[in-house]
Amino acid sequence: PESPESAVSPEDAAIRDVIVIGSGPSGYTAAVYAARASLSPLVFEGSVTAGGALMNTTEVENFPGFRDGIMGPALMDEMRAQAERFGAELVPDDVVEVDLTGPVKVVKTATDTYRSRAVVLATGSAYRKLGLPREDELSGRGVSWCATCDGFFFREQAIAVVGGGDSAVEEATFLTRFASKVYLVHRRDELRASKIMQERAFADPKLEMVWNAEVAEIHGTDRVESVTLRDTVTGETRPLEVTGLFIAIGHDPRNELLTGQVDLDDEGYVLVQQHSTATNLPGVFAAGDLVDHVYRQAITAAGTGCAAALDAERYLAELD
Ligand code: FAD
Repeated sequence: PESPESAVSPEDAAIRDVIVIGSGPSGYTAAVYAARASLSPLVFEGSVTAGGALMNTTEVENFPGFRDGIMGPALMDEMRAQAERFGAELVPDDVVEVDLTGPVKVVKTATDTYRSRAVVLATGSAYRKLGLPREDELSGRGVSWCATCDGFFFREQAIAVVGGGDSAVEEATFLTRFASKVYLVHRRDELRASKIMQERAFADPKLEMVWNAEVAEIHGTDRVESVTLRDTVTGETRPLEVTGLFIAIGHDPRNELLTGQVDLDDEGYVLVQQHSTATNLPGVFAAGDLVDHVYRQAITAAGTGCAAALDAERYLAELD
């Protein structure tokens, strides 16, 4: 009989039903559903960031079922344990190469090769960072990448939004619902955002444009207390007292494994056939922020993760 190790590692291991790549809300939810459908999913969690984007935040107040909110890492621990409870096999390793084109999908880590009949892609998307020293440490403590998620925490406070595209202006305008003052900090002296959004932003009495400026430093002991702005023309610096810093300079879907195999849109997100999670390749399904550049929420990622597992289950049933 096969030992548990040999079932998942050697080159000639049995072909599995489902491999899930990614360990955020979409990956773990796909794993829960696939495991409960007796598909014994193998889940690659990543070597560094198992648990996904919510591992970098504190309180999550908008995931249904937790009326008092829950800390991001605690929520992900629960999802992980739930997947494990039903028999999902979790591997804390990075997938470094895939061949998804044939009926048998090949998934490689640095040391091993795995095979399956279906794959769920759930690698998420990375929020672009400013690259400042305190940025990661103060994430969830004033530094945020998501106005929908965190705006509510900044009622009657002064905050800054960094960026100049549509999403920065949209986030800044949205945040004026909560904040007493929103500074939109932009490197140039004009915005890239659409005209209509700019007009709405300029008409908003709570929103103030800070042109030709970038954030040079973030200050605060346990939470953001202020930032230092640097003038991009003169190089002069000045302090700005804000308790929140929303970074809205774009996202990069984690698609590096997939180029040349799965169809991507112009921005690099995986294209799925509408009303399903099916990609252009039979047996390959995609979910979460790797696909979605509109909603980008834990609950929507979990929702499409569920859909991907159900789609994979139907695909496998049709093969049998
Ligand atoms: P992710 O959560 O990004 O997970 C993908 C994971 O896949 C990666 O972390 C990594 O572990 C793994 N992975 C990637 N590549 C590989 C590979 N090659 N091999 C193996 N594994 C790999 N949403 C809310 O609804 N409420 C909130 O309050 C909220 N707060 C947020 C706060 C912060 C700071 C951030 C950054 C996001 C927040 N969001 C919030 C958004 C939410 O976290 C995302 O929408 C959600 O996590 C997306 O889930 P996902 O499963 O698609 O991807």
